[in-house]
Amino acid sequence: MLTNVIPKTRSELTLPGLEAAVGNTPLLPLQRLGADLSPDVQVYAKAEWFNPGGSIKDRPAFNILRTALERGELEGGKRFLDSTSGNMGISYATFAAALGIPLTLAIPSSASPERFAILQALGAELKLSDPLESSDGAIHLAQQIYAVDPQRYYYANQYQNDANWQAHYLGTGPEIWHQTGGQVTHFVCGLGTTGTFTGVGRYLAEQNPDIRLISMQPDSAFHGLEGLKHLETAAVPGIYDDSLPDWQLTVSTETAQEMTLRLAREEGLFVGVSSGAAAVAALNIARGLDEGIVVTVFPDAGYKYLSERFWESA
Ligand code: PMP
Repeated sequence: MLTNVIPKTRSELTLPGLEAAVGNTPLLPLQRLGADLSPDVQVYAKAEWFNPGGSIKDRPAFNILRTALERGELEGGKRFLDSTSGNMGISYATFAAALGIPLTLAIPSSASPERFAILQALGAELKLSDPLESSDGAIHLAQQIYAVDPQRYYYANQYQNDANWQAHYLGTGPEIWHQTGGQVTHFVCGLGTTGTFTGVGRYLAEQNPDIRLISMQPDSAFHGLEGLKHLETAAVPGIYDDSLPDWQLTVSTETAQEMTLRLAREEGLFVGVSSGAAAVAALNIARGLDEGIVVTVFPDAGYKYLSERFWESA
């Protein structure tokens, strides 16, 4: 529930101000891109760039930070440490700045210049990992930093941390259920840490075991879908539950980029490339249906990808 209560004293000006802005994002219909679908099929996307840090990762970042604080993990001035491909780092940096928590992030040096600029603006300490090793390289670097000085850091490890998928089990999943009036039939979701798919999937399966859960990944190890993982060749996250997906889809970088452009130009949705990939997968599923409500997730907006060339085409 959104509240807007003005605090009486400065000491009350703490994180709940930002917390109230996390989640409760709009569920937007794809209108023109779904024009060829059966009239009884609808496709919706959760517009996650409405979160204060600009992406879906506000949800797990906030939950992981809150859980760490509640457990006293950051006592004694410990630095909060994790690896990130960008968005989780921006969310951590947003809340860490608000809470005055020192933050160290391991991030591939190949992350987009826009991401580095935002992280620097928010004051995070950055450690750069090998671009060829992608997000797995950032994980290894964070592990090394922690191993050298475990007293100095709390290593959050978003890939193994239950507070990641639980944020979606408690927030994103119930929101989708309520926003569709319990009518959702298919949930289609990209896999990165797998937190979104695992948390939402578990929640929806409990509400109605007939809901089909469809995971989506890049089609190859070397891909341009920032935030997503090719699980066959990458380190599989500890929180991943491989019993959940009913179907698994892959999407190529080129198809995702083309769809990202179409979302901007035909739907007025200026989103990131993993959203384009999610739309490709959701529309593929929707095309095979006579009736149903297909829900997917658009993790972030297009601003952080503006330096990519594909925007210039056609
Ligand atoms: N898309 C983008 C742009 C992301 O930053 C992420 C997070 N890595 C994802 C998709 C995947 O979300 P999750 O980590 O919950 O699987």
